[in-house]
Formats: sequence, structure tokens, C-alpha cells
Amino acid sequence: MLERIAQRVFAGIPFSWREPVIFRKTLAFLEESDRWSKDKIQEFQMRSAAAVIDHAFKTVPGYAKLFARAGVAPAHFQSLDDLRRFPFITKEILRDRPEDYVSSIIPRPKLHYTATGGATAVPFGFYWVRGYNIPIEKAFIFNLWKRVGYRIGEKTAVLRGAFVGNEEKKRFWRFNALTNETWFSSYHLTDRLIPVYLEKIRDSGIRFVQAYPSAAAIVAKFLQDHSEIRLPRLKGLFCGSENIFPGQRELIEKFWGCRVYSWYGHTESAILAGECENSNDYHCCPQYGITEIVDAQGKILTQEGAIGELVGTGFYGWATPFIRYRTRDLATLGKAFCKQCGRSHRTLSRIEGRFQELAVTAQGRLISMTAINMHTPVFDHVRQFQFVQERQGEIILKIAKKISYRDHDTQEIFRVINEKLGPDMKLLIAFTDQLEPTPSGKGRFLVQKLNTQQWLDRLTT
Ligand SMILES: [Zn+2]
Repeated sequence: MLERIAQRVFAGIPFSWREPVIFRKTLAFLEESDRWSKDKIQEFQMRSAAAVIDHAFKTVPGYAKLFARAGVAPAHFQSLDDLRRFPFITKEILRDRPEDYVSSIIPRPKLHYTATGGATAVPFGFYWVRGYNIPIEKAFIFNLWKRVGYRIGEKTAVLRGAFVGNEEKKRFWRFNALTNETWFSSYHLTDRLIPVYLEKIRDSGIRFVQAYPSAAAIVAKFLQDHSEIRLPRLKGLFCGSENIFPGQRELIEKFWGCRVYSWYGHTESAILAGECENSNDYHCCPQYGITEIVDAQGKILTQEGAIGELVGTGFYGWATPFIRYRTRDLATLGKAFCKQCGRSHRTLSRIEGRFQELAVTAQGRLISMTAINMHTPVFDHVRQFQFVQERQGEIILKIAKKISYRDHDTQEIFRVINEKLGPDMKLLIAFTDQLEPTPSGKGRFLVQKLNTQQWLDRLTT
């Protein structure tokens, strides 16, 4: 399949009519390979990684140099274990020399410029193949969503940070007939408009919602306080692109009344991992790429429960290949096989979060903010909150109050959070009306103003 797709890319035929073909073929391939045995998966990964390594070596000057410096060539890749002999590629390298990392055989007009998300610490631009990477990406995502009953073209509501509202015309959503999606403005998640949104979802017969967890959590909090509101009958709520924090999932599932389905992915297309029908563990898609977890020295971790950095090699990045790409995201290694669904997919039991979501205590201890369970009644009178760290050993909790908030709540929050942070972290509380979203509109749990990179080594060793 991969070679067939690769041939299509390089064939030089116009792409416009191919997009749906690539999409359908990828979907069919994913269906066929969904239950592949471990051996079959390894054989496919071996072939796919070899093709990408060979392609990068021959057509991407940056990789040719990188491999030469490390003393490796495509011929050294004889088994999946040999991947560790190849050097890592980092965000800094790609940011500083972007043109060195573009394949010379993809014609210019077929290069589609894209960039990593606005909230990342080291943003950089790179290329996809026009008319190729997007349909493949879509097919992979739909294939994940299928696990919770989604069918292509089904009506969905989207609450993902896009501003579509018009305050004067009082229009806060927009319907896209092409995708059957109704986009709601998540900048207008106010007590006045949430019921209007929910009514719209109910009346449109929408069964699935795509949302940033932070947006879904705001609505869940509202529903918690308004039991009189009739809920739409939903089948699933898709949460990608942003971490779901412990407690958030329970809150959303309870008050939206449906399964939260989450996955991990990124624009760089090196790793894709999604939950299955029966478990919340992230299953690394073996048809998408090879996922490794490494410690600060770059040593591959294999033990269940180990925390390390996610490193990915994508199988479809022909324009800008990502080979052993250090994502700077941390994850906890799960099982090599999922008992709940029977797939031979490596699982991650938790995505620990971006490095910029780690807080640093006075003694240099790192706290993964995802480990702080905020699902406690002390937050019942809080509309929204966010941590900000500007100084080592000190963290500010910004709180947007509900009307029901009392002084007593502040004391309780101090007590509960201090317990979790430990004695070497000073907690300050500040009140605000509205928390700032990131430029892309995503909510952020921690705004980290320190450079946490230097503390990473201590966490992973
Ligand atoms: Zn499973």
C-alpha cells in the first residue's frame, strides 16, 4: 500500500481528482490491516521505514549530512532494532535549516507549506505533499473515530476554538454542508449562550461532538449547575489536540452523558495514537509510523510504566521526512498488546503532556501538571482556572469565579493544591474574569514562562 501511494505521489499526475481516491484507499488499507498480527505489523513497518530512510538519504540534503555524521546509511537498516543506530532529528534543527529538510524530488507546486501549532515552544514550518498528506491524515483519524461508532459524513458539532460568531447578528455558529459539521464559537461559552448551543445540537440531531477538552469542560461545568437543561443524545465526544487532564474526562463524560474519545497526534505526522473501543490507553497506530520512547540520553525505554520522550518516524512524510523526531512530549509506556481489544499495538497509558506543562519547584523537582487531579468538589464554584509559572518554586493559580464562589473556597483550594504541590512550591491565587486562550484558541492548563528544557534530564533519568 505504502509503495503504491508513493508511486502515485511521484507519478506527476494532477492531484485534484486523486484526493478522494487516496482517502478511500487509505481507509480500505486501514480496515484490512486493523487486526494484523505482530509479525505482519513488523514486516510492514520494516518496509515502510526502510522506504522513508532511503528516500531521505537520497533526496533530502539535511538527512544525508546527518546520517553521514552519524556514520549510517540506508544499508544499515536491516531490522527494526537498527532504527536506534540512526540519529534523532530535533525541532531546533528543522527550525534553523528548513530548506535543507525538503525532498528535492517533490516538484515545488506540490509542496504544501504548514507549521507546528502556535503553542509549541519551538515553532517551525515544513512541507506536506499537496493533495496527499491531508486525505491520508483524514483517513487515519476517521479510522480511529470508527472505534466509537462514527461513520463518515455523520453530523458533528465542532467546539474547537474557531471564532465564527458575529456579536451584532447574534450568530455564533456556522454549518458546513460539505463536511456536515456545525462550528460553534468557543469564544462565546457563556452562561447565556451555552443553552442556545445545546438546543441547536439537540434540534439538529447531532450525535458526535469534536471539542477541545477545555471547551467541553466549561460546558460540563455549566450542566453540573443546571440539571434542568435537557441534554442532546450523543454517542461520542472527540477530544484531540489538547491534553485531557485527570478529572476532566470524568467530568465531561458525566455531564455530556457520552464517551470521551481521545487521541494523540501532531501536524508533523510522525506519531498517531488513539484509544480503542474498550480502553483509554493510547494505541500507537503501527500503519502510521514507528513510535519510540526514550530517556534523556536517547536510550530506548521498553519497560511498562517508564516515562520518557515520544520519538516518531512517520511513514508518509515524503516532502519533509520525520525520522526519529524528538517531539518533546512525554508519555508513559503501556502494554505491547491491548487485552481489551486484542490489537497488537504498543500502548501508552498516559500522555504526560508537553514540556511546557511541567512546573519546577524550588528544589528543581518537576511536577507534571497532568498528575494534579483537579476533579475535586473544591472547584465546584470555579468557572475556569489556569496555572502560571514565572519563577522557579512559585506558581500562580488564576481563577475565574462563579457567582456562588465564597472566601471559604479559596482556603479549601489552598489546602488541596498545596498538598499536591509539596512544600517546595509556593502557591499564589489570583482572580480574573477571563483566562487568556492561546493564539489557536486552545485552553491551557499551565502557562510556563520558565525554560523547562534544562530540567527534563532529571525527570527522565
Ligand atoms: Zn485496545
